[in-house]
Amino acid sequence: METLTSTRSLCPVCLKTIPAKLVMREGKVYMQKSCSSHGEYEDIYYGDANLYKHIMREYSKQPLNGSDEKKDFSDVNIPVRGYDIKSAPIIGIVDLTNRCNLSCNVCFAGCTSSPSLYEPSFSEIEQLMDTLRQSDPPCPIILFSGGEPTIRKDFFEICSLAHKKGFSFIIVATNGKLLAQDKSYHEKLNKAHVDIIYLQFDGLTEDPYMEIRGTNLLPMKLEAIENVRNSPAKYPAIVLVPTVIKGVNDHQISDIVKFAAKNITIIKGILFQPIGFVGDINNKKLLTGRITNSDCLEQMEKGFDGKISRYDFVPLVWLTDFLDAYKRMNPSSKTINIETHPGCFSVVYLVKKDDELIPLSRIINLEELRKFVRALNPANKAELITKFAFLLPKLILKEGIKLSGQLFEILKTLYFENAEEAIMNFHRENVLLVGFEHGIDVRNYDCDKVEKCCIHYATLDNESIPFCSYNLLHRKDIEERFSKE
Ligand SMILES: [Zn+2]
Repeated sequence: METLTSTRSLCPVCLKTIPAKLVMREGKVYMQKSCSSHGEYEDIYYGDANLYKHIMREYSKQPLNGSDEKKDFSDVNIPVRGYDIKSAPIIGIVDLTNRCNLSCNVCFAGCTSSPSLYEPSFSEIEQLMDTLRQSDPPCPIILFSGGEPTIRKDFFEICSLAHKKGFSFIIVATNGKLLAQDKSYHEKLNKAHVDIIYLQFDGLTEDPYMEIRGTNLLPMKLEAIENVRNSPAKYPAIVLVPTVIKGVNDHQISDIVKFAAKNITIIKGILFQPIGFVGDINNKKLLTGRITNSDCLEQMEKGFDGKISRYDFVPLVWLTDFLDAYKRMNPSSKTINIETHPGCFSVVYLVKKDDELIPLSRIINLEELRKFVRALNPANKAELITKFAFLLPKLILKEGIKLSGQLFEILKTLYFENAEEAIMNFHRENVLLVGFEHGIDVRNYDCDKVEKCCIHYATLDNESIPFCSYNLLHRKDIEERFSKE
């Protein structure tokens, strides 16, 4: 058993911050920790230890140190907080309500379990937006969530307000019920400046919906997608958001990707969310039921006969380097300071060519490109285009030759003109973004990871709180304190 690094976690019982370490055993990464009052805990942290070592070596600012030291956190007084923010938010989440227009068996937003109504007023929502825009740099993306955010009567006014407040991207997370019922709903979203629809989508058969939501929502989802296809408005585009549960729908991962590729003109991405456990669960069930990013990547690999491999995925840090470079080159621009932990997100760009999906890493040499990007500075700006043209043959891999002219244009715009426009143009092409975002729970909570989270919830205390920390430790208290009943 090899110790990979030491970190901090929470005691699952008293939620006190306690020391933890990550160890490698039988090819997997485990988290081990002990609370002086409640004993020892172990949980799977990452399903593929070699892949974990690889991403940490390549992408972490703090590489694995092999440290076995047991820091004493018994005196650290972090009452039920579990983080200390190190990253500005890139996506700010605002919950518009905890009401919903469906009643599922299990609701991950806790709609069915929360007894009190949480629904900030229009002016409170403005306050939440201001909190996000006042962070440094101002949060560029807002995500409306809930409950079901679209059931508010003032929903479109709220979206338009976000546009006025200067958010570059407006995302709405929805179950799709209104999109399915109202053929003109997509156009209404367009008029309210919504850019992206996060559509909850758990699979391509009835079973995952029956299992997860207690009712077959597949026909409704397909209806919603058809209505977007037939809408006269081009935007918002759809990003599918499947909740992934081992043994329920993990075997459908590659089919969902193929389904999205078939609908690439309206579906631009998929954000898979392998979930942790809610409620009490015994240790044996925990270890067999746990699913991490790498387990999902393995399923992708199988479903695509190795044409997409787990090593084609990169952490979000890979994109951060691009934004950092853009900021260095254009000091006046307000681009984002993002910190992310390599273990949190795994993303791949898939380029659709004929009927095939080719990972971007097989079209361009991502490592060479990253080296070039990291060396960029304003002093050499004049020679850059020439340098870049010379680098190009080294960058373009065999599969990419036919696409090279197009790629050159995209990359040129990205560095020298307008990053936002380049990203939009890139997505207008036949490109699908597939990401896996492993949500953590109190069992595998890693303070290092949470501190580097760039997805935050805005609160009426004028704070922004990292995603996992909010859901695990703060949501209940905040919703009760600001409840309308
Ligand atoms: Zn404890």
